Amino acid sequence: TMEIRNIHKRFGSNEVLKGIDMDIKKGEVVVLLGPSGSGKTTFLRCLNFLEHADQGTLMLGGVKTTIETATKKEILQHQRKTAMVFQNYALFLNKTAKENIALPMVLAQKKSPEEAEKIALKLLEQVGLADRADFYPSQMSGGQQQRIGIARALALNPEIILFDEPTSALDPELVGQTLHLMQEIAKTGATMVLVTHEMQFAYDVADKVIFMENGHIVEQGTPKEVFEQTKEERTKDFLARFT
Ligand code: ATP
Repeated sequence: TMEIRNIHKRFGSNEVLKGIDMDIKKGEVVVLLGPSGSGKTTFLRCLNFLEHADQGTLMLGGVKTTIETATKKEILQHQRKTAMVFQNYALFLNKTAKENIALPMVLAQKKSPEEAEKIALKLLEQVGLADRADFYPSQMSGGQQQRIGIARALALNPEIILFDEPTSALDPELVGQTLHLMQEIAKTGATMVLVTHEMQFAYDVADKVIFMENGHIVEQGTPKEVFEQTKEERTKDFLARFT
């Protein structure tokens, strides 16, 4: 579980997050929705200190980190329990698929190269890319690269996986396979937080949908509650754009 309290973040005079509270239970799939600029990506990045929030606390795996006073060591310990899947994959371009998955295990977890490679090959199989182990990112489709990005995240065996618009850079015909893989991962009981505009995925897979606007949580609930029994006008306006 992750308990997130009172996250504030500003860029100069632009207050992007205005006190976000959230509870994410083990095995839960949480989808963050909201208009462009509402702070979804910034919030996700604050959850693993890719962005350093100004204020708040993060409790993960029973350890509480106070953002204002967090030491480098505390930040690193927190980061080791998280993994991020990026919109643009963020693969090492000069490393093969297998190396991209194995390297973080060696660097962050001090696994031996042999053990890391063994795990990487297993994960390549799991994401349907066993035959691409020695391919470089430039030799793979966007959908394949993203599946490598997802395998890399899984390899770290994190308590929580953060997905930042994982399919929004993909050609439409490649979106489905990536969403399907994410659905499979959800079924394994992984704890996942996603920023996505894939409404059907949110409806089918999410346990909780959270609508953000202007740095606040406006509304949250089950997909049925948020999509079919919408309470807030601002959520209704947003959802109306997708139908
Ligand atoms: P989108 O759906 O378009 O990705 P979002 O809800 O994810 O939007 P964010 O990317 O979190 O929104 O951005 C929220 C606000 O923070 C925007 O006004 C953006 O310009 C600003 N912002 C984000 N990152 C930075 C940064 N590094 N420096 C300055 N401003 C930033």
